[in-house]
Amino acid sequence: MKILVFNCGSSSIKFKLFEMPEEAVLAEGAIERVGSETASASLKTAHGKIEVKQSITDYPRGFAVIKGLLLDPENGALVNLSEVRACGHRVVHGGDEFSGSMRIDDLLEQGIEAVFELAPLHNPPNLTGIQQARLMFGAIPQVACFDTAFHQSIPEVAYRYAIPENLYTDYKIRRYGFHGMSHQFVARSAAKLLGKHKYSVNVITCHLGNGSSIAAIKDGHSIDTSMGLTPLEGLVMGTRSGDLDPGIIFYLHRKGHTIDSLDTLLNKKSGLLGISGSSNDVRDLEIKADGGDEKARLALDIFAYRIKKYIGGYMAILNRVDAIIFTGGIGENGVAMRSRILADMDQLGIIIDETRNAVHVGVIGEIQDTTSRVKVMVIPTNEELAIARDTYKMSRPDR
Ligand code: ADP
Repeated sequence: MKILVFNCGSSSIKFKLFEMPEEAVLAEGAIERVGSETASASLKTAHGKIEVKQSITDYPRGFAVIKGLLLDPENGALVNLSEVRACGHRVVHGGDEFSGSMRIDDLLEQGIEAVFELAPLHNPPNLTGIQQARLMFGAIPQVACFDTAFHQSIPEVAYRYAIPENLYTDYKIRRYGFHGMSHQFVARSAAKLLGKHKYSVNVITCHLGNGSSIAAIKDGHSIDTSMGLTPLEGLVMGTRSGDLDPGIIFYLHRKGHTIDSLDTLLNKKSGLLGISGSSNDVRDLEIKADGGDEKARLALDIFAYRIKKYIGGYMAILNRVDAIIFTGGIGENGVAMRSRILADMDQLGIIIDETRNAVHVGVIGEIQDTTSRVKVMVIPTNEELAIARDTYKMSRPDR
């Protein structure tokens, strides 16, 4: 059964075609700079690669281009669009409505629209993508997979902020958390590797990429995570500050910063980029730090320190931790960063083996020392596959 997975952003549409349940990738493509005269579209299949530059000024045009790519007689992946039996869509915010992936109908579209204000940059293009796919593929099942859904199991003690209750009841201000498909995917993979049932593992999952978050998972359910109402809270990220004293915002506002400029400052100019003054990329910063750039070294240290603090906090709330899991571009590949984060935690039962750590670059495996009480695992995430699996589960013919 062919399933097409979409990840639609404000300026890009990414898609991947799977054969399920075999989980084979048949095609993978993207449109970059949607909305511009100089957009680019690409597709990779077993037959070859297509790359075109053209004007793609809106989403309908983008979807027409995707159709052309998939049906390309030479390098495409389909002879007829009707071979696609279901579509899965990444949706960033599901508010407190959705605690799992859902079949899409008009009502569900309204539910996604209802939380536009909570994710103004993400949910609108996510919904546009869904609408275009429904137009293009007709009556086949369409499934929405929410970044927030996995974290809906977080208890009130962890999702409520210490602010007046009416802000929660009137505006739904609470912790939602993101990267849910990834945290769930690696937690389930870890359970398999550990030979345990998915609902009997306690793990701490570190999704470290340009956007980073960490989650405490008890008996297979998320019970806390570092991102909050928005993805700004928590860890230091490529360009986001993560946790800071909210008083800083009032202080800077009184100094003349507008709310919009503060939004840009904390989301786009802070984090690794802000501290180092030069880059949001861990690889660049490691090279610079090795060459004596003190600001780059400090950026890496603060990044690692924040994660270490969260790991300690989550160990306290979980009590028993089976494994700490690293995923995302930095978690999967950042050998030096992993050792920086887990250094000097032997009294907490965490000791990594540097030889194992060094060979686990982008590959699954355990990197703890034989004397370590807590396992440390590298598990490459695969959010598209997680979406394809949920979509398959919710749309297979025998359902
Ligand atoms: P996104 O959140 O955009 O999906 P990724 O998960 O792709 O991001 O992660 C991107 C980050 O991964 C980059 O900022 C880079 O710092 C980091 N990264 C990639 N390869 C390495 C590596 N070998 N060592 C350290 N960091 C790496």
